[in-house]
Amino acid sequence: MFNSEEIRNDFPILNRTINGKRLVYFDNAATTHKPIQVINAIKEFYEKHNANIHRGLHTLSQEASQMYEEAHEIVAKFINAYSWREVIFTSNTTEALNLVAYGWGLWNLREGDEVVVTIMDHHSNMLPWRLIAQLKKIKIKYVDITNEGYLKYNHLEELITRKTRVVAFPVASNVLGTINDTMKISKIAHEVGAIVVADGAQSVPHTPTNVRELGVDFLAFSGHKMLGPTGSGVLWGREDILEEMKPFKVGGDTIKDVTLDYIVWHDLPWRFEAGTANIAEGIGLAEAVKYLTKIGMKNIRNHEIELVRYTLKRFEELGEEIQYYGPRNPYDKTGVVSFNVKELDHHVVGAALDVFGIAVRTGMHCAHPLHYRLGLKGTIRASYYLYNTFEEIDYLMESLEKIIMLKESFSKEKPSTLCTGT
Ligand code: PMP
Repeated sequence: MFNSEEIRNDFPILNRTINGKRLVYFDNAATTHKPIQVINAIKEFYEKHNANIHRGLHTLSQEASQMYEEAHEIVAKFINAYSWREVIFTSNTTEALNLVAYGWGLWNLREGDEVVVTIMDHHSNMLPWRLIAQLKKIKIKYVDITNEGYLKYNHLEELITRKTRVVAFPVASNVLGTINDTMKISKIAHEVGAIVVADGAQSVPHTPTNVRELGVDFLAFSGHKMLGPTGSGVLWGREDILEEMKPFKVGGDTIKDVTLDYIVWHDLPWRFEAGTANIAEGIGLAEAVKYLTKIGMKNIRNHEIELVRYTLKRFEELGEEIQYYGPRNPYDKTGVVSFNVKELDHHVVGAALDVFGIAVRTGMHCAHPLHYRLGLKGTIRASYYLYNTFEEIDYLMESLEKIIMLKESFSKEKPSTLCTGT
């Protein structure tokens, strides 16, 4: 039985108070908290097994190497990869997506080629292609969205032509929560021979993922957004494409042999994991995956659907004071709800919610083109995970009601000491 109250006991940080109030953490799309099992796995690694991997015949190095390799296997199984050779550990989604742009795009794109991305992409899946476009004189095309925040699939079909070599998109939007039809996009892209680069940063932590069914060629995601440590991320790629792809960072552990005349690249995935890896982080990520698997990804997905359904219902009760964005149907989105309070700057609301102990993200969430498309200067984003509860949503609504009541006393200006909100 899924029980978020019981799950909370595994997360020490959830006992914290912020401004004298119990922490309500609704910033899971940025990063999630870590259960004690993950914290202990990292601690145990440093206390008992710490050594560099693939570098020594001594016992500690052998143990660390084995643990790190097993971590790849555990992640491979979690996403139903054919082999752990297809699983490259990176620092985060951003690094994984840059690896595709520089490892594949830089070497395979030619002047006149086209790359199709979406207006709802996070900068991490858009800007690498923008730089490659400048270098290689290729054209970028942007798929539009409907006013409700769904991708316009007929526009996507119009944009994809024989010139399209890459189609990049988020499996789920980090602002609207929209879950895109990955299989459909992959099919359309493959009909013209394009490669499909899916940003799974907001989907892999929240929904069951099966790379054999998705039909994509690459899938990037962040370990730190799925209970793993910061510095952990993954690029899954189709083995035949990875075999042909060039490394993006090169150096130690990427080669089998080097002379002054030739380089023999290492086997997959080590060819793409240059330098000393984030070893403890990779092992911590595997522990996070074990934890998520034990809870069950379907259970997590169902819990988030109900949290979103409840939030939208409560928003409706607040009437025109709240404007929210993205699909209205909770089945079409992940546990991400972006909104604004009428007449109040998003940063002002974010700072006020912090006074109540509620952590939300405010700004454009690294998706500026999407916000400009929607005519917004920014949004307040509540993003949920397995440890969030309906009571916490009630508390968010009560706090918002108080903020709305006190509206006149708030400065209309953006607080100057706050983050830039990008
Ligand atoms: N893509 C999406 C959809 C995201 O939500 C994020 C994180 N906000 C990223 C990419 C980048 O992730 P990271 O910062 O871990 O590289």
